[in-house]
Amino acid sequence: MSQLGEELLHRIRDAHKRRSLSFWERIYLPAIAKGLWITNWHLWRNLFLHIVHRIGLYRDIPASVTIQYPDQLRITSPRLRTRHRLTRRQDGTPRCVACMLCETVCPARCIYITPAEHPDPNVEKFPKSFDINLGLCIYCGYCVEACPEDAIRMDTQRHDIAAYTRDGMWLDIRELIAPGTRAVTEPPSKFENMNLEDYRQIPPVLEPVLPGRTKPPQNKNA
Ligand code: SF4
Ligand code: SF4
Repeated sequence: MSQLGEELLHRIRDAHKRRSLSFWERIYLPAIAKGLWITNWHLWRNLFLHIVHRIGLYRDIPASVTIQYPDQLRITSPRLRTRHRLTRRQDGTPRCVACMLCETVCPARCIYITPAEHPDPNVEKFPKSFDINLGLCIYCGYCVEACPEDAIRMDTQRHDIAAYTRDGMWLDIRELIAPGTRAVTEPPSKFENMNLEDYRQIPPVLEPVLPGRTKPPQNKNA
């Protein structure tokens, strides 16, 4: 007999060895009561904790096992690819030299860059505009891999890409340079004609945080 056949035979024999249910197990009532007791215990416990959290008590005891998004962010792997950002030089201008490698390699064709000549002869170019249509992006990370300048990263730990309109899915240059500074309701300024001074005027935002530690910087208008 094959090994599979023997295994099946063992299972059939074991099935016969199962003990018979007791009277209380057959009527199910104790099991139903136990289930209701557990559900109610969690309901009233969580309700009580949610109420006392409002007045500042027992904040260290979580009220439920669910994550209180968006106040609390889920701990994610540092390797997770999240929303893009452009890295900056010390003077606030982008590290991007508008080589177009990321735009060329992007399989979704959702990166749009307009290059301009850089006044510094040591730097080839800079992007006048840099836009990403997240509605098309497949988060493959090829743009990050292709970049020779470490100018684009996907480490903002921001997963919230919902928007009210299709246009709202666009990451414009200002949002890429300073992630989280555009309000959800604010339309993107696509294909903007930035110069280096414009970049310097954009205040830096906090560096992306390690996942799950604290909330990334939020726009107060959002
Ligand atoms: S993650 Fe992939 S699809 Fe998205 S912009 Fe980069 S290369 Fe394009
Ligand atoms: S690959 Fe890097 S340097 Fe080249 S255009 Fe893209 S972000 Fe800029």
